[in-house]
Formats: sequence, structure tokens, C-alpha cells
Amino acid sequence: MPIGTIKELMQDMENGTYNFTENGKCSQCGQCCSNILPMTDKEIEMIRRYIKRYNIKEQKHLVPSANPIIDLTCPFLDTSKEKEKCTIYEARPAICRCFKCDEPNGALKHKELYEGVRKATDVRKTFYGKV
Ligand code: SF4
Ligand code: SF4
Repeated sequence: MPIGTIKELMQDMENGTYNFTENGKCSQCGQCCSNILPMTDKEIEMIRRYIKRYNIKEQKHLVPSANPIIDLTCPFLDTSKEKEKCTIYEARPAICRCFKCDEPNGALKHKELYEGVRKATDVRKTFYGKV
């Protein structure tokens, strides 16, 4: 499948192509769980402590057709489970608590997203030292 342009992506978002909710509720499908997330230093430290305390292991979802093999999905997403796939649910960053795919821009209404400086964070590299 060819990769579309940003414009096509934005149109798809407006058309609800990426709406995976069920009856308006998050279905916990994990489709939005990206390896790149906007995070504050405070959130990174909190997650670091959490994964150490509960010994949270890295999850892998490799794309075997890619060369080199890549994983663009959050290392905390456990796809072997039907529900409750986030292995750091209690400590997940604000973007994960605020985002819902049926209203992608809705997250911007949440005040907590404006607290602190958020940097685009490579989650796997940050917490498990790999790209
Ligand atoms: S918000 Fe994310 S996890 Fe929830 S239904 Fe949408 S894509 Fe799936
Ligand atoms: S931290 Fe949890 S909710 Fe957020 S992207 Fe990763 S798996 Fe998904």
C-alpha cells in the first residue's frame, strides 16, 4: 500500500478513517500507541521509576517486511492481550490520557498537556536504549 501525503492523512483523520472507538468509547485497540510521544522530563522520570519498580519488559511489534526491521509501536503496548494492553497504564503520559481517535484535536483542550515542556520522545530508545 503506498504511503499517502500528509494532506491525505489529515483528510482521513477528518473523515474518521482512524476512528477505532466503539460506541464513542476507546476500544483499547492500541492503534494510536506510537513509539514517538510528546513527553515532559517529569513524565519520563515517573515512567522510569515505574518500569523499574514493576520490572516492565519491552514489548516488540516488528515490521518484518521493512529493511532494516523497524518497530514504530510503543514498547509498552502488549498486543498479546485483548484489553488493558498498556503495561504502564497508571503511569502513562498525559498525551495517552487525553487523546481519543474520534476527536484527534480534542486532546488540545486538556490543560495538563500545556504543563511543562513536551519533547517528541522516542519511547523505545529512552526507556530501553534502542531505536
Ligand atoms: S483512542 Fe487509541 S486505543 Fe482508543 S480506540 Fe482510538 S486508536 Fe484505539
Ligand atoms: S504508554 Fe500506553 S497508552 Fe501510551 S502509547 Fe504506550 S502503550 Fe499506548
